[in-house]
Amino acid sequence: MDRLATFGVGDFVHIERSGRKVTDQDRVFEHAECDFESHYGKAKLHVFSFGPHEEDNILCISVGSQQDTLLVRVQSACYTAEIFRATDCDCHEQLHSSLKMVYKEGGLLVYMICDGRGAGLLTKIRGLALGDSEGLDTFDAYHRLQVDPDPRDYTRVVSVLKWFEPKRLALLTNNPRKLAGIAELGVPVEHRSLQIEPTDGSRSYLNTKRLKFGHLLDSEMFDM
Ligand SMILES: [Zn+2]
Repeated sequence: MDRLATFGVGDFVHIERSGRKVTDQDRVFEHAECDFESHYGKAKLHVFSFGPHEEDNILCISVGSQQDTLLVRVQSACYTAEIFRATDCDCHEQLHSSLKMVYKEGGLLVYMICDGRGAGLLTKIRGLALGDSEGLDTFDAYHRLQVDPDPRDYTRVVSVLKWFEPKRLALLTNNPRKLAGIAELGVPVEHRSLQIEPTDGSRSYLNTKRLKFGHLLDSEMFDM
């Protein structure tokens, strides 16, 4: 059976692979890959391009796996922590813990180029400034800015995951919204926790994620 027959109308499809004609209802993505060597080891580096802007690209590291259940981490960009090593969140540590696991066990690291939980850098920095000036946490700051606190959409990630044709997934996350978004893939998804011990700098932010975003974090880590 044509594998594209299982895609619903409005899904992104990879036309080049299927050979069928593009219709007006298709939203097409392009894919390129190369061998990739990093400090973690050897892998494949993929880019899935959904449009003309840089943030329309999704990066993916894939490491061969013998497991039936594919280990997956979906990370969205946090330039302040991942590049500039901010101390107020755990994004850098989550990224590198995930990479270590993916290189060890095999699996995928899918990287969305959308900072500020999908709201963009302007909103993120305005939110951080409201934290400094008025003591608002990130949830309340986004509300003050009239922005959804977590507007990330996982439709494109689901299309990327479909490309790898997994039978079942183990998703490294603490975020129930991410689990729900990836469930759209239509294969069994099990949850694997990715908890980073809070530091003095990150404790407040992580506690906001736990209490206001419903992240699955052990409350004992926040006992003062
Ligand atoms: Zn961060």
